[in-house]
Amino acid sequence: PGQVDWERVRADFPLLMREVHGRPLVYLDNANTSQKPLAVVSSQDEFYRRHNANVSRAVHALGTEATEAYEASRSRLARFLNVRADELVLCSGTTFAINLVAYSWALPRLKQGDTILVSRMEHHANIVPWQLVAERTGARIRVAEILPDGSLDLDALYRSMTGDVKLLAVAHVSNVLGTVNPVREICREARRRGITTVVDGSQAAPHLRLDVAGIGCDFYAVTGHKMCGPTGTGALWARRELLQEMPPFIGGGEMIKEVSFEGTVFNDPPHRFEAGTPNIAGFVGLHAAMDYLDDIGMEAISAREGELLAHATEALQAIPGLRIFGNAPGKAAVISFLVEGAHAHDLATLLDLEGVAVRSGQHCAHPLLQYFGVAATLRASLAFYNTHDEIDRFVAALEKTRRLLA
Ligand code: PMP
Repeated sequence: PGQVDWERVRADFPLLMREVHGRPLVYLDNANTSQKPLAVVSSQDEFYRRHNANVSRAVHALGTEATEAYEASRSRLARFLNVRADELVLCSGTTFAINLVAYSWALPRLKQGDTILVSRMEHHANIVPWQLVAERTGARIRVAEILPDGSLDLDALYRSMTGDVKLLAVAHVSNVLGTVNPVREICREARRRGITTVVDGSQAAPHLRLDVAGIGCDFYAVTGHKMCGPTGTGALWARRELLQEMPPFIGGGEMIKEVSFEGTVFNDPPHRFEAGTPNIAGFVGLHAAMDYLDDIGMEAISAREGELLAHATEALQAIPGLRIFGNAPGKAAVISFLVEGAHAHDLATLLDLEGVAVRSGQHCAHPLLQYFGVAATLRASLAFYNTHDEIDRFVAALEKTRRLLA
């Protein structure tokens, strides 16, 4: 395999050429959402110029083209994740995907005395739906704790997989700490105890070569906008038997076989869960995004991000009073940090004036920040299209702003 020309890759992203406050943009908020290569941007234009129609309802040529494009995106995603296409429910993103599991799978099954095991490092999207289910069923939430380096306490996790635990919700990769959880091993342990597993793959799909079938989980959720695709695209993968057993969550057109006021016959999965007009153009864009990522190669992307992470970590550690949260071995390219004597929001605001986009706050993970006893952190999250030069500019800008605030 040839070497990737990262400068050329970067040139595929029109937005990265722009300036912010008169400075060249340094975009380090990739865990929040990724930027989009030209191939994805122009796929949107092309779809609306030439192919726009609704899916499945029409026999005319455009309707067929739109339906084929939408279904082709499903097949492409199946190949990207290594799962079967008829086990993939297309939806607006991880938030919807996890809520679908909560309302269709968990709500009818859980009851008082049952426990839902949720890891400390989850995004609110993998906490709040379970709290809503717990409230309505009488089930309880139990927290799987982490260790100071930001990895899951696996011994404690396995000890807490007691007979009352029906469901385990865990992130593949943490959006705050970058921790890559050993989901294959975790799901094997859960399965041995009859516990159903929901893996939040939001932060894994953009950075790792995934083999979702090989993980051995029951549900896996992804979101397209972090994978260089358009916002409002994502999917839930579920084992076929589970999808077959699940009642629809949202009712409407497309998800039925027959409707009468005497009773309605629902469509088969995955269409049973896709009521209404989907984000057709968005999925066309996600298809282009996956082609783009695979053209570079997910292994090359992981390796590139690993190099950028090592560079950034080393440079940041040289800053006096800077503390990094999460240093689990093999972590993904996400760095949460604080600088002594400076508020995260103040630093982020000053960094923005230097053209550097980082996130500050709680990153939709309040319980995790509570563990570390801090109200907010800054987060620099890297993508393969970032450069070593950008990292140097980010660290220099941080040095400058830190001195201003000190
Ligand atoms: N889980 C994780 C780990 C995330 O990082 C995010 C996005 N910040 C989500 C869930 C929610 O994704 P979305 O808003 O695209 O549904």
